[in-house]
Amino acid sequence: MNYAIITSAGSGKRAGLKIDKNLFFFDGSTVIEKTVAVFLKIKKIDKIIVTVPQKNKRTYEKLLNKLSPKITVVCGGETRTESVKNALDLCTGGYVLIHDGARPFVSEKLVKKCLYKAINEGNCVPTLPVTDTLSKVNNGKIESTCRDGFLRAQTPQVFKTEEIKKAYSKLEADDVFTDDCGVYCKYIGAANFICGEVGNIKLTYKKDFENLIPKRTGIGYDLHTLVYGRKLMLGGVKIPHDKGLLGHSDADVVIHALMDAMLSACALKDIGHYFPDTDPNYKDISGIILLKKVLKIIKKQGYKPINASLVIMAEKPKLSPYVENIKCSLANILKIKPSDIGITCTTAEGVGLVGREEAIACYATATLG
Ligand code: MG
Repeated sequence: MNYAIITSAGSGKRAGLKIDKNLFFFDGSTVIEKTVAVFLKIKKIDKIIVTVPQKNKRTYEKLLNKLSPKITVVCGGETRTESVKNALDLCTGGYVLIHDGARPFVSEKLVKKCLYKAINEGNCVPTLPVTDTLSKVNNGKIESTCRDGFLRAQTPQVFKTEEIKKAYSKLEADDVFTDDCGVYCKYIGAANFICGEVGNIKLTYKKDFENLIPKRTGIGYDLHTLVYGRKLMLGGVKIPHDKGLLGHSDADVVIHALMDAMLSACALKDIGHYFPDTDPNYKDISGIILLKKVLKIIKKQGYKPINASLVIMAEKPKLSPYVENIKCSLANILKIKPSDIGITCTTAEGVGLVGREEAIACYATATLG
């Protein structure tokens, strides 16, 4: 009988997420479901033991028990070493593959290669070369540096079950290990290694999780008519002109197009749905306030703006002197840099509503991530 132990009991503090990092949901399932799914595909693995934090045990059971009867969810200990030791108590004979729950991109091929090497040669650890130089630190200062003679260890690390159990049974109180190979090397002996995979990353930092969310782009368009007696607001900036845009709100055509682009990127309904022009609450309301509301709506979907691109179509006034102000105004609200906003100003060559100075229109795209 061969076993896989998937460790998922860590605190995941470095990820700075509000939830258990291995319960982070992306691309249709959680991190832990993706990781476990790889091991479920391998016929030579008979039992999968997932070590989890006590407080989330029921959540993990709900997610994993339905996938296969091969899976057992157990509570982990205070440290990774303790969690693995607990899980090893449930294993007898054969081989055991020990894998980090936060490595969902491990390939089936690598797992099989590690298992076969272990079956033939007793054990196997996937590794990669060290690319950064390592610094040896003492008393807060770097004493020396090196790179030669070191490899980066990945998982799954595969051992004969009884051998790794024997190594774990010898653990001493002051032992500190960050992986299982460390325990094996200290109490049994040297281990074999093969080349790991660059893609087999361990999701650790917040940035690792941000990179998992696919970017989305949306498009928006708006047009308002120009009339005397109204102020002209474009991108939250008051533009000096003898006419302004007519609308239930402040008719800021730039912000309206941008809001629709952002909502469209999330495949949500348009601004007319969220801020109907029949609602007295939105009478003369500033585009800036509405844009802040849209930011909250897209945040609920897990998104924030990355960049925006706008084409403002106006015959008059000439808008180029105000482009930088509009960029700064929008960047300030969207919490991105002015250089993340592109603005093109164009006329309509005297043709149509815009050309006859009867309206101003705006096209916008927004990319969210
Ligand atoms: Mg509008």
